[in-house]
Amino acid sequence: MISEYDSFLARGKRQKLIDSLRTKGIKDENVLEAMNRVPRHVFMDNAFLHHAYQDKAFPISSGQTISQPYTVAIQTELLNVKKRDKILEIGTGSGYQAAILVEMGARVYTIERYKELYNKAQKTLAKLGYNAHFFFGDGHKGKSQYGPYDGILITAAIKEIPQELLDQLKIGGCLVAPVGGYHSQVMTRICKDENGEFKETQHGLFVFVPMLWGTVNDK
Ligand code: SAH
Repeated sequence: MISEYDSFLARGKRQKLIDSLRTKGIKDENVLEAMNRVPRHVFMDNAFLHHAYQDKAFPISSGQTISQPYTVAIQTELLNVKKRDKILEIGTGSGYQAAILVEMGARVYTIERYKELYNKAQKTLAKLGYNAHFFFGDGHKGKSQYGPYDGILITAAIKEIPQELLDQLKIGGCLVAPVGGYHSQVMTRICKDENGEFKETQHGLFVFVPMLWGTVNDK
């Protein structure tokens, strides 16, 4: 069934976007299917279908961006999400990435440091019937009281991964984050093996908005 916020036109454009993500190398069909079901335009202020279904990042409120679809796809694929997995996202932003995770059957905990975005993302997900746990705060310390997690996803550029976040991973769980300075970051995956040891792999260069300290409570 099509949600009242979606349309046949949007679905057609979305299908083309998904085909292009497949061409660019995204293989996890569960990720592609979820991205095909979530109406990305509903997460953008200026709901121009034309912008929503191009493979580009786009401005949202508070000077932040909704990640490029390819970036969302790669991060989600690296996270290796299974139904019922408990996932912590740092950097809710528009809530689009969180919605993809919920659509894949994950239990999602997401943190945002801008009050305005925190409020807005909750409304957007509720509108579309997606349930997630939203937190207003600085995500550097994670949310240990709800952990440990099957996966942790950081959607802002971080210089170094705090040990405190890695400690919130289950055995077999992975953390995915763009690690580096302001201009570019290396997509990094750190997985906790059965001996509790961390194994790191790298997956190409990306550009994210920075992960910052503290919160902004202006709205
Ligand atoms: N996942 C988002 C894209 C987010 S852009 C989406 O799907 O739309 C990165 C987000 O991380 C921004 O909203 C930014 O405000 C937030 N952020 C930056 N530093 C943070 C921190 N320390 N804690 C929580 N959120 C943070």
